[in-house]
Amino acid sequence: MFFVVISFSLLLISGCEQQPQIHQQQVLALGTLVDISIYGVDDKIAAKAVTAVSNKMEAIHHDWHAWQPSKLTYINQQLAAGSTISLGPKQRQLIQTGITLARQSNDLFNPAAGKLIALWGFHSHERPNGAPPASSNIETLVNAGARMSELILNDNQLSTINPAVMIDVGGYAKGYAVDQGIDELRRMGIDNAIINAGGDLRAIGDKGGHPWRIGIRHPRQAGVIASLETRGDESVFTSGDYERYFKYQGQRFHHIIDPRTGRPAQGTRSATIIHRDASTADAAATAVFIAGPTQWRETARAMGIEEVMLIDATGTIHMTEAMSRRIHFEVHDQPIKTIIVP
Ligand code: ADP
Ligand code: MG
Repeated sequence: MFFVVISFSLLLISGCEQQPQIHQQQVLALGTLVDISIYGVDDKIAAKAVTAVSNKMEAIHHDWHAWQPSKLTYINQQLAAGSTISLGPKQRQLIQTGITLARQSNDLFNPAAGKLIALWGFHSHERPNGAPPASSNIETLVNAGARMSELILNDNQLSTINPAVMIDVGGYAKGYAVDQGIDELRRMGIDNAIINAGGDLRAIGDKGGHPWRIGIRHPRQAGVIASLETRGDESVFTSGDYERYFKYQGQRFHHIIDPRTGRPAQGTRSATIIHRDASTADAAATAVFIAGPTQWRETARAMGIEEVMLIDATGTIHMTEAMSRRIHFEVHDQPIKTIIVP
């Protein structure tokens, strides 16, 4: 049977801690529920800020949609036709960020692999049939080797030497949108807030001297596996095999594709990153997920990430020392096996 599940990987822990000065509001943006919490300004200003943020995020979602006609689908048509495209400043910024993050990840994070992601059927709300794609089609695309380094970006002019390049910003667009949303809040004079997009978030400031506390979703059961307190300005992003997937003959096929095999990355259930900016945290969560239990540390290091938690396919938790100092496990009825590395 085929089904797609989009769910929350992190939850904002609120409840009894809730204080009256916190304005909390949910909006539908980026195809998910975005939870915006703002501390310390009056309700009217907060409500105005929420509207501004959600408009901004919706515009980004619309501009960068992978399959509905968007600025991105236009760019991809032009690239496939071998044409050169003039980019606006924001478009240039997002693509340049993608090029840099791909290089740092040694192309495990590969937004140029849009054709592979489309082949797996993750460029639509529904897939036509429940089976994974034919191996020959996967191999053809892996061999075509589309990489971000094959994009040529001169000033605002974009072209590619490889017509197999098809840009898909799904691995970092949420982070980019959250970053833009935080910039918008700051412009409005708001210094204490969280933008939580379906579980992935960036927090700034605190709640009147009390840190924001957030939860990291358990990859295999309802609720959180761990919680942490954010410090200053930080993003917490998780990539999970439970976010979007289909099942075929009892096997799970999720949406995080290993560009080396052309198939859903094996060996990881979820990867969580703490890092200042959300775009980098988002891309790094995807890359570290793909790197898996044997290569995650070097990938994180290459991307400049210190705080990482990876839950592997057996449920063992791999963490950096820095992450282990931040995290509090919230599961007490079962043993948790952790491997901590410097
Ligand atoms: P989520 O958005 O569920 O938190 P990710 O941030 O890992 O998960 O993004 C997954 C999305 O990224 C996929 O739906 C797809 O659009 C895109 N993607 C899949 N594999 C890769 C990859 N190797 N590199 C870059 N983007 C990818
Ligand atoms: Mg990501």
